Amino acid sequence: MTAAKANTPMFSRIALIGIGLIGSSISHACRRANLAREIVGSSATAATRQKALDLGLISEAFDNAADAVAGADLVILCAPVGAYAAIAAAIGPHLTPGAIVTDVGSVKAAVVRDVGPHIPAGVHFIPGHPIAGTEQSGPEAGFAELYDNRWCILTPAADADPAATAKLKLFWERLGSQVEIMDAVHHDLVLAITSHVPHLIAFNIVNTAAHLERVTDSEVIKFSAGGFRDFTRIAASDPVMWRDVFLNNKDAVLEMLGRFSEDLTVLQRAIRFGDGDVLQRMFTDARSIRRSIIQAGQDTAAPDFGRSRPADPPSPAKR
Ligand code: NAP
Repeated sequence: MTAAKANTPMFSRIALIGIGLIGSSISHACRRANLAREIVGSSATAATRQKALDLGLISEAFDNAADAVAGADLVILCAPVGAYAAIAAAIGPHLTPGAIVTDVGSVKAAVVRDVGPHIPAGVHFIPGHPIAGTEQSGPEAGFAELYDNRWCILTPAADADPAATAKLKLFWERLGSQVEIMDAVHHDLVLAITSHVPHLIAFNIVNTAAHLERVTDSEVIKFSAGGFRDFTRIAASDPVMWRDVFLNNKDAVLEMLGRFSEDLTVLQRAIRFGDGDVLQRMFTDARSIRRSIIQAGQDTAAPDFGRSRPADPPSPAKR
């Protein structure tokens, strides 16, 4: 590759539909790697559009997605997945032939169902999901390093254009990620256990603690380092985004919750009957998974994981 070619942006106009944590981080990482000549965007509220302009995340803001995608050769849906069907219906007739349409949604089969029918022939639809995030939201929350050394999963249909898939794969690699290609239904099953059920447990345990009558709120906060604190970080995640995840990955989440309940019952019985061997074996197995994640470079063994001081950048966490 010549030096001139290496410096040529991959896309001439990227349209971000939704400019929160994920969209703004894409903008930062695109600028870092010079991936777009121009980045424009659209979001639901005027306040976010203005903030995105002020932060230099986009050069032009549109109050409707249809205008934002005109002339774009890459369109990235970065809104909560519950909004995708309406966005796709609005942008479909305005997409440029040859453009790539992708997304970052945390579920994939529902995205194929909601977006796919609105994509005209000649436009390449390749769903995606960066497995990277924090509990923060909004355009100020983004940072260029969010995707570094994280996985991004692409779920192209069997008949998707291989060249478009390869281009999108390269785009995510240049954003800093490693890319894996898989089927949308399989993605939803994997993410149900690695992300969706853990979030549900965190939301639930924080609410359970809040509803206790014999332990005061101040005790819960004072003694939170006993494990509760890490759940509160996950439970601080955006309620709208997570509502849409559970509404749109119902079957896989219910399947994994069933498995989870069965294993919880085993632990419950072991505690009731004083079976220390079962407890120790299950805790030892769980501990080895944590070590494998650190060895795979997907987290750090640093003791302050997830507890950065307010002045620090947000701590990247797997989603
Ligand atoms: P976020 O920070 O809350 O940002 C959401 C953005 O979507 C905002 O700019 C919002 O606009 C915009 N939006 C909402 N409804 C819209 C609509 N109808 N049309 C256009 N824009 C709309 O959320 P996020 O964390 O970036 O999440 C965005 C997507 O990334 C979700 O699909 C989520 O599943 C996925 N994801 C999230 C994470 C994570 O850790 N957060 C990780 C991986 C993937 P306003 O601000 O104007 O309301």
